[in-house]
Amino acid sequence: MSDTIAAISTSIGEAGIGIVRMSGRESIEIANKIFRGKNVEDLKDAENRKLTYGHIVDPEDDQIVDEVLIACLREPYTYTRENMVEIYCHGGVVAVKKILELALNHGARLAEPGEFTKRAFLNGRLDLAQSEAVIDVIRAKTDKSLQVSLNQLEGSLSAKVKDIMGILLEMLAHINATIDFSEDDLEDLDYEALEKKGLQVENQIKKLLDTADRGKILRDGLNTVILGKPNVGKSSLLNAILRENRAIVTNIPGTTRDIIEEFINIDGIPLKIVDTAGIRETENLVEKIGVDRAREMVNKADLIIAVFDISKPLTEEDHEIIELIKDKDAIILLNKTDLPSHFDANHLKDLLPDKKIINTSIKNNLGVYELEEEIKNMFYSGQLDIESDVVVTNLRHKNQLVKALKNIEDSLEAIRLNLPLDCIEVDVKSCWENLGEISGDTISEDILDKIFSEFCIGK
Ligand code: GDP
Repeated sequence: MSDTIAAISTSIGEAGIGIVRMSGRESIEIANKIFRGKNVEDLKDAENRKLTYGHIVDPEDDQIVDEVLIACLREPYTYTRENMVEIYCHGGVVAVKKILELALNHGARLAEPGEFTKRAFLNGRLDLAQSEAVIDVIRAKTDKSLQVSLNQLEGSLSAKVKDIMGILLEMLAHINATIDFSEDDLEDLDYEALEKKGLQVENQIKKLLDTADRGKILRDGLNTVILGKPNVGKSSLLNAILRENRAIVTNIPGTTRDIIEEFINIDGIPLKIVDTAGIRETENLVEKIGVDRAREMVNKADLIIAVFDISKPLTEEDHEIIELIKDKDAIILLNKTDLPSHFDANHLKDLLPDKKIINTSIKNNLGVYELEEEIKNMFYSGQLDIESDVVVTNLRHKNQLVKALKNIEDSLEAIRLNLPLDCIEVDVKSCWENLGEISGDTISEDILDKIFSEFCIGK
C-alpha cells in the first residue's frame, strides 16, 4: 500500500467542477510537481485541509492545463488515513483527464475500483460493512434507502453484529474455561447457561434476517411486473404512476423492444417496474422473445400488478395470466370501469381468492391512488420501523447471517444433547467467523477484492 493512487472522483461529463483525487505517501510531492500556486510556492507549506489557489501546469512544456483549487489532507485524519490531495478543476472531459494523466506521469498509479475505500478499510478507518455502505449511499434511489445506507455507514449493522459476536465470545470463553480446568468437563459445564446465550444469539440473528427482504427492496427496488394482455391499459398505468413518482428512467436497449424498466419512488419505497409486452401465444419470433421474457420476469418478480379489461369477457390469455400469478404476490386491477362491464368479476375472485382486487379507470386516473396505497400496505405490513432499525440490505451479509444461524442452531442442538464440549465449540466458533465476515474481522483477501471491485473508480 506504499504506492500513491490517483483517480477522477467525479463523474465524467459536462459539469461545473471535476475532482481528481490522490492518496498515498507521495500525494503532496506529486501534486507539487504539477501545481503552481499563486501565493504558495510549495504545497508542503500549504495549510492542512485548506484550499490553495493556483494552476496545474505540465512541467514538460510549462503549459497551463487548468485553473484549480487544491487541498492537501494530511494523514491520519483523511478518508483513507493516508496523505491525500484533492484537485478541484473545471468540469468536462479534457481538464480532468489531463490532470489525472499528469499525476500518473509523475509518480501516481491509477486507482482500482473502490481502492480509496479499500484503503480506508485496510487502515481501520471503516469496517467492511461500513465500506460496503459507501456503494449503497452512492446508489441509493430514495430518501429511505439513503437513510438506511447512511445508518450502515455510521456502523449500525456492524455494532449489532459485534454485539452478537460478543455473546459468542462469552460462550467460547465459558467452554474453554471448562475444558481447561476440569477433569470431567461434562459435569462442570453449565449447559443451561450456555443454551441461554445460544438462544440469545439465535434470536438476534433471526431478527436481523427478518429485515433482509425489506432491505433488498430498499436497495434494489421492489421488482414489480405489470402484466396483462394487449390493450388492457398497462402503458397507461405505467404513465399514470410515473407522472407523480418518477425517479430514474432506464430503458433496456436491444431486441426486447416490448419490455421497459423504470425506477419509481412511492413514498420512499423504490419500485423497479417492468412493463411487459403482455402474455400471448404467438408465432412471431420477436414477440415470442418478449413473451418468454415476460414469463421469466413473473418468476423473478416481488410484486405483480395484473391488469384486466372489464369491458371484455375473460379470454384464454387472461386465464393464462391468472394461472401465472396464482402463487405470487399480486394486486389485481379491473380496469376500464368507465365502460359497460362484460366481465365476470366474481368468477375472477373465485379463481384468485386471496388477491387484493382494485377497480380502476386508469384513463381517468381513478384507482391509481388506491393501488399505491396497497403497495405501501404490503411493504409496511411488517412491524419494522425502517428509520430506527438496523436493516440488512446486502445479499452478502444476508448469506453470512444464514450460515451463522445454521451454525448456532447446530450448536444449540449439541448443547441440548449434552454433547462433548469440542463439538459445541466448533459450531459456536463457525458462527462467530460467519459474523466476522460481515464486519471484516475474519475475511479472506479474495473476498475483499471481489467486494471492492464492485465500486466505481475514484471511490
Ligand atoms: P396496453 O396495451 O396494455 O399497454 O394498453 P394501453 O395503456 O396502451 O391502453 C390501450 C387503450 O385503452 C388506450 O387507447 C387507452 O387510452 C385505453 N384505456 C386505458 N385505460 C382505460 C380506461 O380506464 N378506460 C378506457 N375507456 N380506456 C382506457
